[in-house]
Amino acid sequence: MSSIRSSTPPSPEEFQRQLADLMRQHFAPGVRATPSPQRADTPTGPEETATAEAFQFDRKPREVKTYLDRFVIRQEEAKKVLSVALCDHYHHVRLALQGHAQPNYAKQNILLIGPTGVGKTYLIRSIAELIGVPFVKGDATKFSETGYVGADVEDLVRELLRRADNDVARAQYGIIYIDEIDKISAAANQTGRDVSGRGVQTNLLKLMEETEVPARSPNDLAGQFQAMMELTQRGKRPVEVISTKHILFIVSGAFTGLDKVVRRRLREASIGFAAKTANPEADADAMAVAQTRDFIEFGFEPEFIGRLPVRVYCHPLAVEDLFTILKTSEGSIIRQYEQTFAAYGIEVLFRDDGLRRIAELAGEEQTGARGLMTVCERVFREFKYELPSTPVRRFVVTAELVGEPAVALTKLLAEHRVEEQTVMRQLVQDYAARFAQDHGLRLHFTEAAADRLVALAQASGQPVRDLCAQRFKDFQFGLKLIAQSTGRTEFTIDADVVEAPDKHLSDWVVASYPRSGPEPAAV
Ligand code: ADP
Repeated sequence: MSSIRSSTPPSPEEFQRQLADLMRQHFAPGVRATPSPQRADTPTGPEETATAEAFQFDRKPREVKTYLDRFVIRQEEAKKVLSVALCDHYHHVRLALQGHAQPNYAKQNILLIGPTGVGKTYLIRSIAELIGVPFVKGDATKFSETGYVGADVEDLVRELLRRADNDVARAQYGIIYIDEIDKISAAANQTGRDVSGRGVQTNLLKLMEETEVPARSPNDLAGQFQAMMELTQRGKRPVEVISTKHILFIVSGAFTGLDKVVRRRLREASIGFAAKTANPEADADAMAVAQTRDFIEFGFEPEFIGRLPVRVYCHPLAVEDLFTILKTSEGSIIRQYEQTFAAYGIEVLFRDDGLRRIAELAGEEQTGARGLMTVCERVFREFKYELPSTPVRRFVVTAELVGEPAVALTKLLAEHRVEEQTVMRQLVQDYAARFAQDHGLRLHFTEAAADRLVALAQASGQPVRDLCAQRFKDFQFGLKLIAQSTGRTEFTIDADVVEAPDKHLSDWVVASYPRSGPEPAAV
């Protein structure tokens, strides 16, 4: 152990060398601390072949689009373009894995443009699920924040490997999705970013083209150590490098201000779009016709934007779209709420006017469909907290409820209390009827007595019948005695009797003995 002790921390290379020595001494001869590089062009190993055979892709664009329609509302053009691009890509991957790669095939990396919360991630995630490929999402702003630009970009590839359960072959045809790409344009850079957006673009470009990423980060000594342990313990060669050749890169961003660039170009060419409008649809139209030179003017390197041949525009969502998302999307957030309440045995019915009000409030948030989550969270927060501890078993979500959830909750609880009290009073009468049936003795509960029993049952959370059976458990015997000595079979139970049943019963019994005192007062 003394060999790895030193006064100054060793460099990663030195540390690896020392670890290798250590492993050699203690475990097996010939163990390497630094995995030997495995090139992408070397013949595939048994693991890769197995996955290559397992990767069956025979989807058609229309089929993919139909699948997406179940989840993603609107974005028709985006759904079509993505279906085509993804099918192209994965047919190519399948052929390449089978050893029939098309020469000079240009990868169809994708640029998605659109405001936040309109379904960009949702589209890609859904497609990845359908095709059954690993998927990872990253944020371009993170690369510049840490300063370790290259390392971070490569971390996405390593994360993809993790999502593929360390199956390197699967990771090699996964999808990497990077959001907020517009923040690494040179223009964004001018507004005071610490790391050059250009630098990040260059690093990303390398990944998007074709490169090999070490499966373990050189900075991750723990990971390096684990790799060696796997090697010595299981004799399994650790995953070494991941080729990005077949990894599909999708980048996205809101590209605020791109519409102005497009407009300027169009104005210069005097084709139209002359006047600046305040109409978001017109902005959208301008964005939708953005060309490579507009992106370059926006601040992207020509090589970078050139590597993103498929460009798709996702439209802002109107209130009506948000309503449709709630009502029809298979991934609608209301399904989640239905399940949450169902877990407590509570049924919730969303009426259309309630859904529309949620959509309207979400529209005000200006965060696309994300606003739906914000609004629902706000509206149902108290309902989720209170209702599971109450006997309320169903409620209806109306526009009124969404508008004033606190008022609606109070009303619901109050109404339920009234309803519940009616039912509970009936249960008291039901107890009396069964008592008559079982013992031939009639109990007449006064209104005040029934109310008192209901209040006691509500306070203790005990079922009414159980409470009555417990309070009046000796009445069948005591009242039978009275019936035998006096012939009376009907008894009035008032609130005082409910309060102290045993005391009253014994008073009545004592009083019922012949010539031993007055008649029972309550009879
Ligand atoms: P972004 O465009 O910022 O990537 P997301 O795709 O992450 O937005 O959207 C957030 C959530 O909002 C999704 O998980 C989904 O539930 C919902 N959502 C967004 N857009 C749509 C849409 N067009 N159709 C259905 N649901 C959507």
